[in-house]
Amino acid sequence: MLGSYSMNTIKAVIFDLDGTLVKLPIDWDNVRRKVRELLKTDHPLKPLGVGVYEVTRNNPKLMAEAFKLIEFEELKAAEKTKYDSKLYELIKNLKRLGLKLGLVTLQGVKSATIVLRKLNIIDFLDVVVTREKSVYRIEQLKIALKKLNVKPSETLFIGDTVWDREAGDSLGCKTLIVGCDIANVVEVEGIVRKVLRSTFNP
Ligand SMILES: [Mg+2]
Repeated sequence: MLGSYSMNTIKAVIFDLDGTLVKLPIDWDNVRRKVRELLKTDHPLKPLGVGVYEVTRNNPKLMAEAFKLIEFEELKAAEKTKYDSKLYELIKNLKRLGLKLGLVTLQGVKSATIVLRKLNIIDFLDVVVTREKSVYRIEQLKIALKKLNVKPSETLFIGDTVWDREAGDSLGCKTLIVGCDIANVVEVEGIVRKVLRSTFNP
């Protein structure tokens, strides 16, 4: 994928959390089943946060209950997050290269904070956008780009789902999907270095 990869410059990298930086031990299909029961719906709830938001938008109390249930599962999983030295090195090195770093996640702020602390990377992140800000990935990315004060064309977005691809592409971010464009998020450092080298030595 490196061969087909081109960017004129790179100023920021924005990461998704679950499935991209870490794999949280959450059985999402089981959580969806529980939420469907609570909401008395057969909505697919994919992505989950968006589904809940759409099903309960006229019932704030039920929405709060559903997110409470999801948060309970997230917090259980978040506590099990293990420090990952390769991931830590990646984030630290990207920061040393002078990049702005952001994170967008459909997790709630409580569990996201626990996970990022356990990974010891929270202090490297210039912006963290959780589902409390928006459940829509595209809106999350817009918020992050604004906060980082960078253009989509100068930004690399790393996600793991087709929704990530759609959101990143539609904004004009360079989007890489783990498990498709790259096997592992740690490959991002090599890609960034390659772009930076070509920027300084065109
Ligand atoms: Mg993900």
